[in-house]
Amino acid sequence: MKDFIIVGSGLSGSCLAYRLERLGRSFVVFNDHSQEASKVAGGLMNPVVLKRFTLAAKADEQLETAIEFYSGMEEHLGKKFLNPLEIYRRFSSVEEQNNWFLAADNKRLAPFLETELVPQVNEHIQGQHAFGKVLKTYRINLRYLLDSYSNHLQEKGMLKNDTFDYGGLSINESGVDYKGIKAKNIIFCEGFGLLKNPYFNYLPLRGNKGEYIYIKAPGLNLEVSVKSSVFIIPVEEDTYAVGATYSNTDKTPNPTAAAREELLEKLRNLISIDFEVIDQAAAIRPTTIDRRPLIGRHPRYSSLFTCNGFGSRGILIAPSISEELLNFINEGKPLDPDTNISRFTKKWHKES
Ligand SMILES: Cc1cc2nc3c(=O)[nH]c(=O)nc-3n(C[C@H](O)[C@H](O)[C@H](O)COP(=O)(O)OP(=O)(O)OC[C@H]3O[C@@H](n4cnc5c(N)ncnc54)[C@H](O)[C@@H]3O)c2cc1C
Repeated sequence: MKDFIIVGSGLSGSCLAYRLERLGRSFVVFNDHSQEASKVAGGLMNPVVLKRFTLAAKADEQLETAIEFYSGMEEHLGKKFLNPLEIYRRFSSVEEQNNWFLAADNKRLAPFLETELVPQVNEHIQGQHAFGKVLKTYRINLRYLLDSYSNHLQEKGMLKNDTFDYGGLSINESGVDYKGIKAKNIIFCEGFGLLKNPYFNYLPLRGNKGEYIYIKAPGLNLEVSVKSSVFIIPVEEDTYAVGATYSNTDKTPNPTAAAREELLEKLRNLISIDFEVIDQAAAIRPTTIDRRPLIGRHPRYSSLFTCNGFGSRGILIAPSISEELLNFINEGKPLDPDTNISRFTKKWHKES
C-alpha cells in the first residue's frame, strides 16, 4: 500500500512528489506527454503583474517559499536551474511611467519596483519612455528541472511513463486501487488534461493557449529580460524566447502561423537587429474562471484530490500551493477558501 499516487509530473505533480519525498512518504507518479505547459513556460518568476503594476495575490510570501523550495531541490538533485534574471518593463508613455511611481508608493509593491528609471537597457532595444526595473526576479530552466526530477524518480522506480486510464481506478474504503497499485490517496495534477478526468471535470478550468517563438540574434547581447507588449528572455547564448501569446478560443496544442506573425510584429517594434526564428512552441495554461488555483478533496470520494489551476504563474505559486495541499491531507490544516475547490461544490451537485 503506497501513501500516494500522483497523476501528472508537470510543475504541480513534481512539486508535490518532491515534497512527499522529503516527508518520507511512499508514492508512484504517472505521466504522459499530453500536456506541455510546464515544459513550454518561459520560466520567469516575477511577483509583479506588469500590465497593471500590481502584486499577484500573496506573491510576496510565495516568493520566499519558492526560492527556498527550488534551492532545496537543486541541492537534492545536484543540478542548477534557478538563476536571478533582471526584468525591465518598457514604458510606452509618460502616463505609464507615472503609474509605475504611484505603484512604487504602495507598501507591498515598493520592495519590487526600482524607482530610478533606466533610459536604455541595450543599444538594440528600442524605447522612448525609459525602462523600470522589477526587483527580486528569477528565471527557472523548467524543462531542465522537470527532466532532472523525472530521471531521479525513474532511477528510484517511482515514475511510470504511462497515460493514466481513469477507467482502471477503483475506490474503496481504505483508498484506491489502480490496476493492482493500492494507495491511500491519489492526487490528480494533469494541468489542462483535467478536462478528461471524470471525477474533477466539473471544475471550471478554462485553459488559455500560449505560444513562444525562439530566435537567434547574434550581436544582441541581451543579458536581461525586457517586457513590452511581449517578453524577450535570454535562454542560451544568442538565443531568446519571445512571447507569449494568449488565446481563450484555440485549445489545440500546436504552434500556429497567426501567433508567429503576432509575435514577430511585436518583436520588430522592440529590437533593431537582425534575427532568425529557429523554433516555436505552444501549450495550454491551466487557467480558471476566477484566476485562483483549484486544490482540494473530491466532494464525494475522500481519497481523491486535485492540484491544478496554476494559470500563468505556476512557478511562483506551485511551492506554496503544494505545501498547503499536503498540510491539508496529512495534518488536516484547513485550505484557503479562495483556492479550495469546495467553492465549486454546488456546481458538482448540480452536474452529478
Ligand atoms: C506559453 C506559456 C508560457 C508560460 N510562462 C510562464 C512563466 O514564465 N512563468 C510561470 O510561472 N508560468 C508560466 N506559464 C504557466 C505554467 O506553465 C503553468 O502554470 C504550469 O506549468 C502548470 O503546471 P501543471 O503541472 O499544472 O500542468 P502541466 O505542465 O500541463 O502538467 C500536467 C502533466 O500531466 C500529464 N498528464 C495529463 N493527463 C495525464 C494522464 N491521463 N496520464 C498521465 N499524465 C497525464 C501531462 O502530460 C503533463 O505532463 C506559462 C505557460 C505557457 C503555456
